[in-house]
Amino acid sequence: MNCYLCGLQAKQSEEDQGSELVDCSDCGTYKISSIVLRELGSKTFNYPKMRDDLHRQRQFNATAVAEINTQTAIWA
Ligand SMILES: [Zn+2]
Repeated sequence: MNCYLCGLQAKQSEEDQGSELVDCSDCGTYKISSIVLRELGSKTFNYPKMRDDLHRQRQFNATAVAEINTQTAIWA
């Protein structure tokens, strides 16, 4: 698959509770919720801001996987 953020080749694994885990060499590992995936059909991410936020989430809690959900998604 391609990374939902940068569009480069990434690895994807199914996750429980309606989210996907994406492992991108550029954006790192992040979780994306199925609701956001559905919204991606009609919207696009604000890529720089979204990347900043994932970075911020990792700094805030280094043990948790950064997450893109309806609360953290930043749209263009
Ligand atoms: Zn990426």
